[in-house]
Amino acid sequence: LDEWLDHCAARYGDRPFVITDERTLGYAETAEWSARLADGLAALGVRPGDRVGLLMANHLEFAPLKFAVARTGAVAIPFNYLYRQEELAYVLNQSECSVLISMTAFGDLDYQTMLDAVAPGWDTGAATSLPHLRQVVLLPTEGAGPRDGVPTVTSLADLGDRHRGTCVTGAARPDDIGDLLYTSGTTGSPKGVLVTHDSVLRTAYASALTRAFQDSRRILFSLPCYHMFGYVEGLLAVMAVGGAIVPQTVFEPLRYFAGIQRHRATDILCVPTMTVALLEHPARADHDLTSLTALLSGAAPAPVWLWKRVRAELGVEEITTGYGMTECGGAMTFTLPDDPLERHAGTVGRPKMAGPAGLPDGTLATYKTIDPLTGEDLPPGAEGELVSRGPTHMRGFWNKPEETVKALQGGWVHSGDLGRVRDDGYVEVTGRTKELYKSGGELVMPKEIEDLLTAHPAISQVYLVGVPDERWGDAGCACVVRAPGADLAAADVIALCKDRLARFKVPKHVLFLDAADLPTTPTGKVQKFRLAQYAQKRIE
Ligand code: ATP
Ligand code: MG
Repeated sequence: LDEWLDHCAARYGDRPFVITDERTLGYAETAEWSARLADGLAALGVRPGDRVGLLMANHLEFAPLKFAVARTGAVAIPFNYLYRQEELAYVLNQSECSVLISMTAFGDLDYQTMLDAVAPGWDTGAATSLPHLRQVVLLPTEGAGPRDGVPTVTSLADLGDRHRGTCVTGAARPDDIGDLLYTSGTTGSPKGVLVTHDSVLRTAYASALTRAFQDSRRILFSLPCYHMFGYVEGLLAVMAVGGAIVPQTVFEPLRYFAGIQRHRATDILCVPTMTVALLEHPARADHDLTSLTALLSGAAPAPVWLWKRVRAELGVEEITTGYGMTECGGAMTFTLPDDPLERHAGTVGRPKMAGPAGLPDGTLATYKTIDPLTGEDLPPGAEGELVSRGPTHMRGFWNKPEETVKALQGGWVHSGDLGRVRDDGYVEVTGRTKELYKSGGELVMPKEIEDLLTAHPAISQVYLVGVPDERWGDAGCACVVRAPGADLAAADVIALCKDRLARFKVPKHVLFLDAADLPTTPTGKVQKFRLAQYAQKRIE
């Protein structure tokens, strides 16, 4: 990773790399800053293989710090910066983090106070409750300064200046673990995934090639850099062509519009719930969004109507959807920019760089489907659990030996996703193995019912979950977000399903919710396990 940055710095020099409203960092400047920070980290005693936590939003400093950690040969752990006290205590402890780089505060989160509770003594470097944690370095944010005596990111760079050359360059090799990335926690508690330098760079480079990136690419996103999507498809991919990122610290449609207009962004990264929010925002027309040419949608299924609306209402022709997961080093499949919608509708595209001009099989990953219950291979084209393997894939979960063995059975990464690989190579994702439920002894695939219902104009979003039921084992509950101004009753939803679906698939319950009340991960994914708990409570 650090060699990649130095290569880009030599090639692109002063070209903008990270653009925020306050400041623009060029490539060479980022490389220099990260070298100073790396010397500072080495002076603090950071050695190859140590774990350095980064707990911060998408601030300008994220990229220089991320590459600084890579220079030292240590493993970067970009934490979810929305963690509350208990979650923070869990991951700091679980990851055995030795140096933490964080912010004084973010929004209503006061990190200094949280650290007092989680690791008393952290400000003197003697936090006994976290024996691995040696030092905390803070980034002053939003007017809040760190306490006296607590080092800041600026003083870390100064320390580096006083100890020039302390960091031994070339410490990390491509096959070393560069990142410990926590999964989204959509289906349970997040797992720390070990990925190599080679893995994320391969995925990022393949993205830029597959999507035919050009020099002028400028990607705006608020998806966090601690997650694969923002990190690999945003930050790392844009480097392949010397483009820039425009990171935002929170998702706010108005800030997206203002950012696109001001910095002439060409690309945005979105999860479908964000895209809907952009489309439905009344102030969209007040902004000049003509620079925008592409939208990358990922992390969750994007319905066909969304594609059509993005083209018609945002004027963005190139919509790409990708499918991937932390365990696989980022996105594995893409729909191509010139792929007609009729061909890929309902799929997540094809493996990156597929086709005659693409990379040889296995450069990125190989796929198959297995029976989710028996683990046996299924014939090509059959629906089952998607499994894959290849050089982009993880080495395991940090400090979770049992989960690692389970997730890597037979050397294949078990996705927990249901889907199939069509004859023409397109991949369909039809749900998650954990979301399936049995009603009256019959297996129900929520996606089929969700697809039927979202096509209705009065429904903006719908999520089907199974709730325990004395008579049926599980009963389906449709959690519906009505379209703005729409008038729709539970009986209408049920009637709609009865018309078109077998009886066991018809939901027994319907709940109406506001979009803002859906339980989501910080990456915007709806957490069905929490929605099911909520539905169960409301039904009782
Ligand atoms: P956890 O593993 O902690 O429960 P998670 O699986 O959501 O959380 P990530 O690694 O961030 O954590 O996300 C990967 C998952 O996101 C995939 O396994 C898949 O279920 C889903 N996903 C990603 N892209 C798409 C897509 N285009 N369409 C449908 N699902 C997608
Ligand atoms: Mg997962």
